[in-house]
Amino acid sequence: MFKKILIANRGEIAMRIIIACRELGIKTVAVYSEADENSLHVRFADEDVCIGPPRSSESYLNVPGVISAAEITGADAIHPGYGFLSESAYLAEVCEACHIRFIGPDPKVIRLMGDKSRARRAMKKAGLPMLPGTDGPVESEEDALKFSNAIGFPVIVKAVAGGGGRGMRVVRSAQELGHAIRTAQREAEAAFGVPDVYIEKYLDSPRHIEVQVLGDHHGAVVHLGERECSIQRRHQKLMEESPSPALTEKQRRKLGNMVVDAAKAVQYSNAGTFEFLMDEHGKFYFMETNTRLQVEHPVTELVTGIDIVKEQIRIAAGERLSVRQGEVTFNGHAIECRVNAEDPDTFVPSPGHISVFSMGGGPGIRVDTAAHSDCTISPYYDSMIAKIISYGRDRHEAIVRMRRALEMSVVEGVKTTIPMHLKILNDPDFLAGRMSTRFMERFTPPSEKKGSLAEAV
Ligand code: ADP
Repeated sequence: MFKKILIANRGEIAMRIIIACRELGIKTVAVYSEADENSLHVRFADEDVCIGPPRSSESYLNVPGVISAAEITGADAIHPGYGFLSESAYLAEVCEACHIRFIGPDPKVIRLMGDKSRARRAMKKAGLPMLPGTDGPVESEEDALKFSNAIGFPVIVKAVAGGGGRGMRVVRSAQELGHAIRTAQREAEAAFGVPDVYIEKYLDSPRHIEVQVLGDHHGAVVHLGERECSIQRRHQKLMEESPSPALTEKQRRKLGNMVVDAAKAVQYSNAGTFEFLMDEHGKFYFMETNTRLQVEHPVTELVTGIDIVKEQIRIAAGERLSVRQGEVTFNGHAIECRVNAEDPDTFVPSPGHISVFSMGGGPGIRVDTAAHSDCTISPYYDSMIAKIISYGRDRHEAIVRMRRALEMSVVEGVKTTIPMHLKILNDPDFLAGRMSTRFMERFTPPSEKKGSLAEAV
């Protein structure tokens, strides 16, 4: 087992990894930017190294900085968390070259899944159901038009290197296609440095359902059930739950087994998430694989009792998975609300100083955060300040607990999305489990409606 792990991240996820390391008796190294000097992850790690100025391109995304910090402190592994360098095949390769273990899949698998078009082909071959889509990047607008006419509009233009909902364009008619391709290519080039885009059939009101897997280096892969992540704004998740209220036990088993087979086909190791869209007839279509820990992993931990971060560390150290598929059980229901420092109506970020911070607790509530009273939310990083996760014997109990935990949370100094979550938790469709990725349109201010979710995200 590792003696010391460097955490190449910040905020709540750095804290989450420190927690796992403490439970495993592993020492930790925090890296931080100048903006995060007083952060909790720096306080609670055993050692810390400043790796640069606030801008993430000069600190948390700086591979030589991260690697030097690992070498100076003698860390034997790096956990990248989510975001930042978590899906960097390059960091994984540099780690290999430096004899530092990267806590994630093999760089080859990261590279394959990071190219959504190649990933589509590989997963199709492995038997996963696909939406009709181009087999590779769009070569010319003529070909794109021919293809889109053949599968029928609407279609969605997506960046091959996509992530975080960027570089996507929904196209409803032939006339809009050329412009949408050019805009998506420009956006993709700016965001990812790769302009390639591909085309896929667009589903109007799907659900987003994803399956968590764990694979070890001895060929074993298990799935930990699904998460429903249909509550999104601009293709970014806001609230997640497990299990999905839309799946039957039979569907869960079938989807899970399909994903396990696909993961085995690419020799997937460590934690990963296979994302699907589900149409109104209950059919699934593969979308992408995220080769890292997800923000929403706690809901799966609560219903399975499996500590995903500890499993990741054990797997990276060469140990066997601690459970076989038959031993994975699903109990109760969990919901996660991402509390962001944002205006709850306009979603405009609200960074600043938090004078009072107290999250509701009590039975069935878990809070993952690095915020505290008298702390500052920096404008340099994403605006999530806490994740509140509720657990109940059933969905109703999880909802009731979440509501009262949010109502009993006090955050002074910045605006938060707590009021938005309370609106969702009181919505009759949400309560009945009726939702799609368009659910949030009902709360979108009229000024934003034009060009919103369905049209140009
Ligand atoms: P990213 O990697 O940028 O997050 P994804 O491929 O995971 O992009 O898609 C994010 C979201 O975009 C999905 O959860 C869904 O809401 C929407 N989306 C993506 N592809 C389609 C599609 N073919 N039809 C309808 N919605 C889609």
